[in-house]
Amino acid sequence: MLGATGSIGSQTLDIIAAHPERYRATVLTAGTRVDRLVELARRFRPRLAVIARDELYGELRRGLEGSGVECAAGSEAFAACVEAPEIDMVLTATVGYSGLEPTIRAIRAGRDIALANKETLVVAGELITGLLASSSSRVFPVDSEHSAIAQCLRGEDPATVRRLIITASGGPFRTWTAERMLTARAADALNHPNWSMGAKITVDSATMMNKAFEIIEARYLFGIDAGRIKALVHPQSIVHSMVEFTDGAIKAQLGVPDMHVPIAYALGENSRLADAAPALTLEQMSSLTFEQPDPERFPCLTLAHTALERGGNVACTINGANEVAVDAFLHDRIAFPDIYNIICRTLDSVPFVASPGYDDLVATNAEARRIASELISH
Ligand code: NAD
Ligand code: MG
Repeated sequence: MLGATGSIGSQTLDIIAAHPERYRATVLTAGTRVDRLVELARRFRPRLAVIARDELYGELRRGLEGSGVECAAGSEAFAACVEAPEIDMVLTATVGYSGLEPTIRAIRAGRDIALANKETLVVAGELITGLLASSSSRVFPVDSEHSAIAQCLRGEDPATVRRLIITASGGPFRTWTAERMLTARAADALNHPNWSMGAKITVDSATMMNKAFEIIEARYLFGIDAGRIKALVHPQSIVHSMVEFTDGAIKAQLGVPDMHVPIAYALGENSRLADAAPALTLEQMSSLTFEQPDPERFPCLTLAHTALERGGNVACTINGANEVAVDAFLHDRIAFPDIYNIICRTLDSVPFVASPGYDDLVATNAEARRIASELISH
C-alpha cells in the first residue's frame, strides 16, 4: 500500500480489517506521517513499513521497536518495496507525481495494480500503456468514475461503445461566479459538498482539474480517444459515471458516494464484496440532475484536451505546475484563479518533447516545478 496513511489508504485498511480471511497488507508506506504509520503498522502487522522521507527513519525504527515489523526509509526503499515477491497487488494511493516510479517498478515486476494515483497515468499514460502491454500486470481502477465505467463495460463488445460520460460533482464552487472565485480561500476549496478526500485532490475538484485528469486517465485505461470522453456535472454524486453504446443505450453505475465500493471492487479484481457500503435508497432521493460544465469558470477542465491533443510531455508539465500551484494556493500564496494561470504560463516555458521516455518525464516534472515555483515567488 503506497500511501497507507491517506484517505484512500485508510479506507482500504477498513476493508482489510473487515476481511482478514481475504486480504493482508504486507507492506505499508507513508510520505511523512510517521506517527500514523507506526500506529497502522502495529495494528496491521505488515512485514515491512516504509517512510518515504529519509530523515524519519530513526523515528520509524524507534516507534516499531519490538513489533517484529521491518523498517525502511527513503525514496529508493519507497519505490523498491513494490517488488517484494509475496505481493500480489500494489495499491497506489500516494498523491501526485510520487506514484510514478513505484508504479513503473510494480508493472515491471508483474504485480497487479489497484490504481488510485491518477497522476501516474496523467504524467506517463503512453509509457505505462507500453509497459503494461509487455507485462503480466493488470490495472484495476480505484477512482470511482473509472470503476463505474469498468462496471458498465463488463460483458460489452468494445466496438459498440460510443462514448464515456464521466460525472463530476462540480465541487464547492459550482454555483460561484468567476468574480467570487477570485476571493476563494483554501478553506472554501476544501469544503467539498459530497466527498471527503485528501487536500490536493479536493482542490483539484474545486478547479475541475480533477475531471481533466480523469479524462486523461480514462483515455489510457479504456483506450478511447478524448473526443469520445465527456464530463458532465451531476451535483448529487450518485451516478458515478456512464457509458453510451451505439444503439443509443446508456449504462450507469449508481451508489452512495463512498470510496469503499470502488476500492473493494479493485481489490477483488473486479468482483463484489458484500456490504462494502450502505445501500442507496433511491426512493428517498427527490432528484438526480445533470448540467454542462462551464469551461469559462473552470478553465482547468479544458486542459485535458490540450494535453491529449498536443501529447508528448504536455500532461506531465500540466501536472507538475498544478502540484506546485495547488500547494501555493493551500498556503495562501496565490489566488484560486492563479492555479490555472500558473499552469498556462508554465506550459509556455517548458520545452516540448514529442515522445518522452522516463528520463524526459523526470526532467519535465522538475522543470515544470521550477518554473511554476519561480512564477509564484515573483
Ligand atoms: P491523501 O493526501 O489523503 O494521502 C496521500 C498518501 O500518500 C499519504 O499516505 C501520504 O503519506 C502519501 N504521500 C504523499 N506524498 C508522498 C510522497 N512524496 N512520497 C510518498 N508518499 C507520499 O490523498 P488521497 O485523497 O488518499 O489520494 C491519493 C490518490 O488517490 C491521489 O492520486 C488521488 O487523486 C487519488 N484518488 C483519491 C480519492 C479519494 O477519495 N481520496 C478518489 C479518487 C482518486
Ligand atoms: Mg474520481
